Formats: sequence, structure tokens, C-alpha cells
Amino acid sequence: MADLRELYQELILEHSKAPRNYRALTAADHKAEGYNPLCGDRFTVSVQMEGDSIQDIAFQGSGCAISKASASMMTQSVKGKTKQQAKELFERFHRTVTGNQNPDSADLGKLTVFAGVSEFPTRVKCATLAWHTLQAALEGKQEAVSTE
Ligand code: ZN
Repeated sequence: MADLRELYQELILEHSKAPRNYRALTAADHKAEGYNPLCGDRFTVSVQMEGDSIQDIAFQGSGCAISKASASMMTQSVKGKTKQQAKELFERFHRTVTGNQNPDSADLGKLTVFAGVSEFPTRVKCATLAWHTLQAALEGKQEAVSTE
């Protein structure tokens, strides 16, 4: 288990240093800003929809390694998915990082690396911030979302 945990930490570090889809998305038709005052994480998530599917997604902002890696991997995980699929993935992710679902049954793919966050309740908001922000963007909310 220790080796696996190290591997997970490496993946999180790697994504936080070189986040994927970290750019402006000029063709975005959905956008929201998320803020986690507990840690100071702040991200904008931009989405370009094609019908009901997420055709392109990008994020910008700053935050701790966990929040940035989570945003990076979130964008990779939901690209090409429908709004509903993205919502269901977020629900499984949320249950897993809060310790309410066994990661083995959550079907999270690479996102399973965040399961360890459930041992650190203060980091749950870091791991879920980008996902909350994505939901706000998809729901077309105008005001900034806060985890508080
Ligand atoms: Zn954070």
C-alpha cells in the first residue's frame, strides 16, 4: 500500500507542477470562479459546450498542489462527457474524498489518487473546489462559488 500511495503522491505532484488544460479558453460559453477561503485556492473554470457535451474545458488561477492537481485531472476526466456524466462522476468523486464510498467501487480511473484526501478533512475542499466550480459553470451561475 505504501508504494501505491507514493505513486499517487507523485501523480498529484506532477499535475500540480504541470497542470493540463491550464489556459484561457476564448471560445468558452460557460464560466465560473471558485474560491476556497480556508486554503486560498482560487480558480476559474471555462467550458465550451457542444450540445450537451463538454467539448473543451480549461482552468486558470492559483492554489495548493492538491487543488491544482485536482483541477488539472478534473478537466482531463470530463472532457467529452455530457453534463450528466460529469455530474455523476463528481458525485462519486465527492463521496470518495469524503470517505463515503469505497474507492474500489467508485470507478474513478486516475482520480482514485485523491481517495487518500479523505484522511485529511481540511484538504477535501481543496480537492473538490474545481469540481464545484465546474458544476457552477455548467449550471450557468453568475456569482462566484465559495466552499464556505
Ligand atoms: Zn488548497
